[in-house]
Amino acid sequence: MTSHLHPLDVDLNDGTTIPQLGFGVWRVPDDEAQPAVEEALRVGYRLIDTAAIYGNERGVGRAIAGSGIARDDIYLTTKVWNADQGYDSTLRAYEASLKRLGVDKVDLYLIHWAAPALEKFVDTWKALVHLHEQGAVTSIGVSNFHADHLQPSIDATGVTPVLNQVECHPYLQIEQLRAWNTAHQIVTEAWSPLGSGKGLLEDPVLTEIAARRGASPAQVVLAWHIAQGNVVIPKSVTPSRIAENWAALGVHLEPEDIDAIDGLERGLRTGGNPATDSFGGDTPE
Ligand code: NDP
Repeated sequence: MTSHLHPLDVDLNDGTTIPQLGFGVWRVPDDEAQPAVEEALRVGYRLIDTAAIYGNERGVGRAIAGSGIARDDIYLTTKVWNADQGYDSTLRAYEASLKRLGVDKVDLYLIHWAAPALEKFVDTWKALVHLHEQGAVTSIGVSNFHADHLQPSIDATGVTPVLNQVECHPYLQIEQLRAWNTAHQIVTEAWSPLGSGKGLLEDPVLTEIAARRGASPAQVVLAWHIAQGNVVIPKSVTPSRIAENWAALGVHLEPEDIDAIDGLERGLRTGGNPATDSFGGDTPE
């Protein structure tokens, strides 16, 4: 059993790196985001994934500011919400996020959804490219994009997103999209990596591997993601689980474990479909 309880870094196509195991805060209210992120940073996580629509950028920012950890040592991601897509509105949305987070720059800014019905994702991508050219953001990427959203964005700008954050777990392995991403030097970042608390972790294949390896089912799933090369951002507000998920870095799976987990694919989405969904709703103040 190999053990490496330190952050693994993944190379991005712009010459920077991102920690492979991070911490997500979707559906964590602002006042709970602060203690959750504080605990995550205390345990060792250095990648924090939020979004304007989560309404908790202030809580995340307070946790970072009070952590005693140098800002340069924390990798912070946020996302432009669908209601703010479009060139000028995206530039304004970025400024508003920085203000709420209390930072002068984020490490990674993502387009939250392609939202194809809005027909604005290419203009939105142009705004991110502008922010990057200005040095206002370290890296730029997308979320919930398929190849037919990625290709026009790349064609229009000559700039390839560093990563694509998409739903991915053993019940939805998106093999084709991951291969497309890899072929274009785009890292795949898995959202809802644990299946968003919807039953995946009780799967008998996972509980059996977990028992055999002396790990928990969540750790087995995270170790599988890491073995695939995915960047992974599990969410928890429970201190014991925050620590448990971090300790997945020390869990080693054998090839037969990986094969068994690969066999769990069932095309099961827990969230929206990038091909068809263009969620509405206003960005929180
Ligand atoms: P996850 O797959 O991370 O699962 C979170 C759920 O699993 C929570 O109910 C949590 O409970 C529970 N859980 C966490 N750890 C364990 C454990 N060790 N054992 C048992 N249960 C556990 O779901 P999310 O949907 O939150 O996805 C993770 C992150 O991905 C988000 O927070 C967000 O940052 C990002 N995301 C991005 C999206 C996008 O559109 N770009 C969409 C969805 C997510 P509890 O908290 O109560 O401990």
